[in-house]
Amino acid sequence: MATRPTMESRRDQMFPLLAPQEIDRLRRFGEIRHYAKGEMVLSAGKDVEGLLVILSGEVRIASHHTNDEIVVHAPGSFLGELAHLSGRPSLVDGQAVSDVEAILIAPAHLREVMVAEAEIGERIMRALILRRVRLLEQNVGGPVIVGRADNRDVLRLEGFLARNGHPHERLDPDADGCAKALLERFHVSPAELPIVVCANGTMLRNPSENALARCIGLTRAVDSSKLYDAAIVGSGPAGLAAAVYGASEGLSVIVIDCRAFGGQAGASARIENYLGFPTGISGLALMARAYNQAQKFGAEMIIPDEVRSIGRDTEDGDAFVLLLASGQSIRARSVVIASGAEYRRLSLDNLPDYEGAHVHYWASPLEARLCAGQEVALVGAGNSAGQGAVYLSGVASKVWLIVRGKSLDATMSRYLCDRIAAQPNIEVLVETEIDALEGKDGVLDHVSWRSAGNAETVRRAISHVFLFIGAAPNTGWLAQFGVERDSKGFVLAEALAGENRFPFQTSRRGIFAVGDVRAASIKRVAAAVGEGAQVVSALHAWLADVRDASSAVASTFGART
Ligand SMILES: Cc1cc2nc3c(=O)[nH]c(=O)nc-3n(C[C@H](O)[C@H](O)[C@H](O)COP(=O)(O)OP(=O)(O)OC[C@H]3O[C@@H](n4cnc5c(N)ncnc54)[C@H](O)[C@@H]3O)c2cc1C
Repeated sequence: MATRPTMESRRDQMFPLLAPQEIDRLRRFGEIRHYAKGEMVLSAGKDVEGLLVILSGEVRIASHHTNDEIVVHAPGSFLGELAHLSGRPSLVDGQAVSDVEAILIAPAHLREVMVAEAEIGERIMRALILRRVRLLEQNVGGPVIVGRADNRDVLRLEGFLARNGHPHERLDPDADGCAKALLERFHVSPAELPIVVCANGTMLRNPSENALARCIGLTRAVDSSKLYDAAIVGSGPAGLAAAVYGASEGLSVIVIDCRAFGGQAGASARIENYLGFPTGISGLALMARAYNQAQKFGAEMIIPDEVRSIGRDTEDGDAFVLLLASGQSIRARSVVIASGAEYRRLSLDNLPDYEGAHVHYWASPLEARLCAGQEVALVGAGNSAGQGAVYLSGVASKVWLIVRGKSLDATMSRYLCDRIAAQPNIEVLVETEIDALEGKDGVLDHVSWRSAGNAETVRRAISHVFLFIGAAPNTGWLAQFGVERDSKGFVLAEALAGENRFPFQTSRRGIFAVGDVRAASIKRVAAAVGEGAQVVSALHAWLADVRDASSAVASTFGART
């Protein structure tokens, strides 16, 4: 059954009208602002000042690129979407149609509204999320990427924006008149594609994810003078759970992720075994909710940036300093390592030639679009492989599921094995391994595999290979600070409190490890979320100890002087 677009089915929730008494309750969180007819209230690419509750007059919201109208806000309505929660740049333009009087609620006060006025806060939060979903559904707002859909850098940039819940538009340089105009305007030759044009007018040539994130205001400069209660490394389920529980319990929290929020879970096409979602939920949708929830409670996000090393603060011996790939540093009284694990790769020499455009580690709608109607090969035998195979079988003509072991039963959940057996276009090849990838100029055209007991290699015309062959932790950077790991690199930290009474604490006091990165953890979303929630009580206990110790030092020092 076709689903109705969000805009149509949820318009009332997306654009609710607040009653006069509700508006009165919001007055104490904001200040009165006036805008003259024709004045820009919001400009795409510029930081938003806060949520605007309209008291009189009207504001027209429109796409920056096309000027197509999205909505006209009238008295009782409020202007804003998720960018207003964190004060990031606006994705759309807003212009006063007549003289406007409004209450401006700054992001920090908006978060207070969410907590102090729960019922109104819930309606506002739902509207902000639905408005972002609507922008994503209709590709309105955000940067414009000019490049071909199957180009590996276009896929990289589109994948980055999609996984961070940021809308964008892609223009095909061969078919789109606007694309041609942009290339002429910026003097770009086809060899230099893709380019990205940001809402603030900046043009980037094939940018890194980091450069793109800076240009569109997704990531911010870190305040290196601020001392956070907790720095959380990784925004997968474990890190986001620690952020939600920590920030909601009053801790100042900063989360750093080198890719996108959601971690491995964000790559899951459909999570069916997470408590409370009987019909399943896409990993990205589940993680986007957690990401917004953490921001609602005031957790700060630095995405994308990588934590490269950890050390002691030279000014405050009780604090830690994290050094980031961007050269910035973060100071915190405690650190939660929630850096999960990274996908494993096949050991084929020419694998890097095809990664990105033809060899994939995710099966999202972006990748699915590329292999519609074609045969694909998918390697793996765990639940992630099963989910990927089922998802791709809906678009590909055939999915060859290549399994090294003797069967799927030992490694994949029963419900997925049954679903695979019921799909006529999935063929499972056990005791089989890919032994060659062939192609030209980075374009994969054939894949070969060999099965045990079969001397002959099978060679098929396949252009897309999906690898779901497990993951290993990337924790080398912790070794230099003496954080102990097991032989596979997983961080040693016990879930139960030991002698030092801090569960999840590593061999370094004040540094904790949760989720997939922790040795002996259960590699599941629910387990990671549980550990992220639990570690917060250990953080409270640790922070109280640090405070007691420093006040003891202060009083001793005070008594002597
Ligand atoms: C495709 C797929 C499908 C899955 N399906 C299911 C399922 O249906 N049910 C289920 O229960 N489990 C599922 N899993 C497993 C589940 O997703 C993981 O157990 C869970 O995501 C682990 O959470 P985590 O927060 O510990 O780590 P991760 O999810 O791995 O997140 C870690 C994060 O840390 C970041 N990071 C790493 N190093 C650094 C650094 N140095 N600096 C900054 N950031 C860093 C990474 O970018 C990442 O975002 C699936 C996994 C995959 C890959």
